[in-house]
Amino acid sequence: MPFRYDPGALGPQEVEISITHCGICHSDLHLISNDWGISQYPFIPGHEVVGTVAAVGSEVQSLQVGQRVGLGWQSNSCGVCEWCTRGMENLCLSAEGTCVHRNGGYADRVRANLRFVIPIPDVLDSAQTAPLLCGGITVYNPMRTHGVNPSSRVGIVGIGGLGHLAIQFARAFGAEVTAFSTTSEKEEEAHSLGAHNFVNTRESKAMKDVAGTQDFILSTANADQDWGAFIQALRPTGTLCLVGVPPSPISVHAFPLISGLRTISGNPTGSPYRLREMLDVAARHGVKAQIESFPMAKANEAIDKVKKSKVRYRAVLAN
Ligand SMILES: [Zn+2]
Ligand SMILES: [Zn+2]
Repeated sequence: MPFRYDPGALGPQEVEISITHCGICHSDLHLISNDWGISQYPFIPGHEVVGTVAAVGSEVQSLQVGQRVGLGWQSNSCGVCEWCTRGMENLCLSAEGTCVHRNGGYADRVRANLRFVIPIPDVLDSAQTAPLLCGGITVYNPMRTHGVNPSSRVGIVGIGGLGHLAIQFARAFGAEVTAFSTTSEKEEEAHSLGAHNFVNTRESKAMKDVAGTQDFILSTANADQDWGAFIQALRPTGTLCLVGVPPSPISVHAFPLISGLRTISGNPTGSPYRLREMLDVAARHGVKAQIESFPMAKANEAIDKVKKSKVRYRAVLAN
């Protein structure tokens, strides 16, 4: 049954978006089942929104009605703290999630603060771009933070919703890209996405062969891994960065971290500035999500398919 709500008067710095597309992100599934203990029902999930500006508040000058825009995980922040003023709004302690304690994008309309409503370059396809608003920035931002460049050797762990985007962005940065997967069936796919090398993580010899070869390893996997083997795969000064959430705590030996100045890190989404930059990079380098489309009214069906990992690689709802 459709859920209706009255959002009230449009705030002076708010933008109302008429939604054309919304990607399904795994965070939506976690919110739906209250895995993080923060969900308040009823709510509308969805935080990979593409649409057009339907209305703007009285103080909004930078966006016009009818303009194509996107909205990701974050819909507002305090705007005045150290992190907001440093352009790192994604670290703001008062950050507002687009569908956390409010209603998100599996809908006709959604609202957000103007700073988080991002214009979309004309050449980008709306459906293929929706997953970039959360999935894309989640893998793009750490590569920028850790200075991935043409001299970098980058490993991507997991070839799924996040990983297939990460391979494309790493390639766009000019890095040598190695895809790590538990299944050799993904090898051809990894190469077609732009990976130079492929390693089956279940083959211990293959993992030993890549010891000391990677500058930056981005783990998109949400299953437990042999983290020690990935630390071993890093070159001195290398970083293992997690954006997927494995169920168990990460246990590694300290010595390889100490001896090689290696780091374990994580990354939460990205700032509005980085979102704009990422969309520009996607437009110029042809980075796009591989998607399966569903009508908005079939959201439950789509969620079910995502839960069963039957979507290659991101599901997108369309109005
Ligand atoms: Zn997300
Ligand atoms: Zn702030």
